[in-house]
Order: sequence, then C-alpha cells, then structure tokens
Amino acid sequence: MSNVVVFCDFDGTITKKDNIVSIMKQFALPGWEEITDQILSQKIPIQQGVRELFSLVPSALKEEIIKFVLQDAEIREGFSDFVKFTREQNIPLYIVSGGIDFFVHPVLDPYGPFDHIYCNEATFDEERIAIHYPHACDELCTSQGCGCCKPSIMRKLSDEQQTRIVIGDSVTDFEAAKLADVVIARDFLAETCEKLDIPFTRFETFTDCIHIVKAQL
Ligand code: MG
Ligand code: ZN
Repeated sequence: MSNVVVFCDFDGTITKKDNIVSIMKQFALPGWEEITDQILSQKIPIQQGVRELFSLVPSALKEEIIKFVLQDAEIREGFSDFVKFTREQNIPLYIVSGGIDFFVHPVLDPYGPFDHIYCNEATFDEERIAIHYPHACDELCTSQGCGCCKPSIMRKLSDEQQTRIVIGDSVTDFEAAKLADVVIARDFLAETCEKLDIPFTRFETFTDCIHIVKAQL
C-alpha cells in the first residue's frame, strides 16, 4: 500500500457543478436560495442547511431527481484516468462528499469500485426528503455541524505518518484542507487557502491531479 492517501470531494470537484444547487434549481419549493446563501456565508452549519434545503423537495420526486442528475452532472476531465492511476499505484482513494447517497452513488457507479464513498443519506418515507448524517463530527472537529465531517473521516482512516492529500473546491473542504499535507484546490477553496496562507496547488482537470499526486510518490 502506498504511503499516500487521497480524500476527494464530489460536488464541484469530480462533477463540474454542485449537484445540490442543480437539484434545488430544478425541484425545490421557494426559499432554497436564501438557505444556500446562509450556508455559503457560514451563517448556519452545513448540516442544518442541507437538511433545510431538502425539506423543500417532495420525496415523490426521487426517481425524477436521480434521472435528472445522471443527465445533468458533467464529470471533470481526467477523472477516469485518475481513478486508474490511484489503483495502479495502490493509493487509497476515498470519496468524501457533502452530497447525498441517492445521487452520488449512481453518478460514481461507472467509475468504481472505490475504497469507500462517504456521504450523507436520504430517506423518502415522509412527504419531503429527510437527510441523515452517518459521518457526523467527532469531538476533535472545531466546526461541529459539518454534516459529512471530512476531517473526522481523515482522522479515522489515516495517520500523520501518511501523506494525506485533499482534493476539493468549496467551503466544506476547508477543515479537511487544514489537516492535509497536500491540498489540491480550485474555486472557493483555492481562494480561501490563498487568503489564509494555507499552501495549495490549483487544479482544473484530474490530469493536473495525477501530476501533483505523482510528485508525492
Ligand atoms: Mg465540492
Ligand atoms: Zn466536523
């Protein structure tokens, strides 16, 4: 097994857009934009915000949403090669996502199997979609309320002897980035790392990621 371990975000990283935002635009009752703004400006915890967002979506739309995401989600260039590269090098590749199981798994299915996919879960037995958090924050997480807590997962799956690489794009990746040895970032995560002086390398495609990870082997 390689000494390098990769923790990779899903929405906006593996897929080009944030699927939760796309789902809300297409299916949510009014009010989702305000909640999204509150999440992004960190006025409310992610865990609370995502639960509130999906409480605006009828459970009856489940199959329609899955169909929509499978058509709408565009995978970032080079992802398939990146998965192949990590397999060849025996690098554990963990997908850590603030997305929800019912759309994350169908999108990733053609590229798997993965070492593990960590994400949130949905149930559809009430009128609106209910969100559950099986990977909530451990006692060391300074945010509390991450939903799918990326730093907690990193602590569980790896140790300081390993080279921990985080790939991500957004506010939900920031706590993970602080814990990482190598940060591969784009968009909001890149701006945040820049502002707070956390070293990172910018990426646009997963071909970039292959080169950056290779340099750590
Ligand atoms: Mg993301
Ligand atoms: Zn947390």
